[in-house]
Amino acid sequence: MRKKIIAGNWKMNKDLEEGMGLVSEISNMLRDEYQGSAEVVIIPPFLHVNAVSKLIADNPRLKSGAQNCSNHKSGAYTGEISAGMIKSCAATYVIIGHSERRQYFGEHNQWLAQKIDAVLEAGLTPIYCCGETLEERESNTHFAVLEKQISEGLFHLSPEQMMKTVVAYEPVWAIGTGKTASTAQAQEIHAFIRGLIAAKYDASTASEITIQYGGSVKADNAAELFSAPDIDGALVGGAALQSRSFVDIVKAMA
Ligand code: PEP
Repeated sequence: MRKKIIAGNWKMNKDLEEGMGLVSEISNMLRDEYQGSAEVVIIPPFLHVNAVSKLIADNPRLKSGAQNCSNHKSGAYTGEISAGMIKSCAATYVIIGHSERRQYFGEHNQWLAQKIDAVLEAGLTPIYCCGETLEERESNTHFAVLEKQISEGLFHLSPEQMMKTVVAYEPVWAIGTGKTASTAQAQEIHAFIRGLIAAKYDASTASEITIQYGGSVKADNAAELFSAPDIDGALVGGAALQSRSFVDIVKAMA
């Protein structure tokens, strides 16, 4: 059975004190209110990863992660953070290829493939983001765009490495816009991605891979999205910045 994962990406929000307060609230609420099966991942800015990991150490449901990492292990790369450093802060997940990294920082598939390798080599789990822009969807090129992102970013991996990778489908037109893909639209793409993985590897590898949906997931649309057979959780941005809205999304996952 593949894992259900709800991850909250804080992006560049929350100072240390605010972040610690938010994590404590989430941890307490989950203890009191959630008996479901999802793993819940807190993904703060780099500076807070160590403190978040320490704070959640007594709550086995909660894990921590980072929003990005270097493709290099160490060296003269001012301002960069390696996967090994993230691991040393007891985090277990790293987002790779978020659309904001692709759009504002020029991260392309070949570079992201190297980052995926760095994350896996450190023994961490990459959450590899893919998704089309509105223009690409309207011109009906979204399937080709997704195929390119998935194949160039991931298909150099061995089957064992692929099984350790999480994919997040995040249509760019739905991120931070309040527009969510309909459940049918999201399910169609998740099944398409799983089909690409099955064609490259095999059906049993594809059936083990967690594919999250991301793009304006809220407490009031989460349950419907999670009812789709190929949607295995969510990567949440805005709604992860408040304990109530984030925990209500988690509670939508059985
Ligand atoms: C995201 O940042 O990955 C995201 C999906 O953001 P939001 O939930 O705010 O659309």
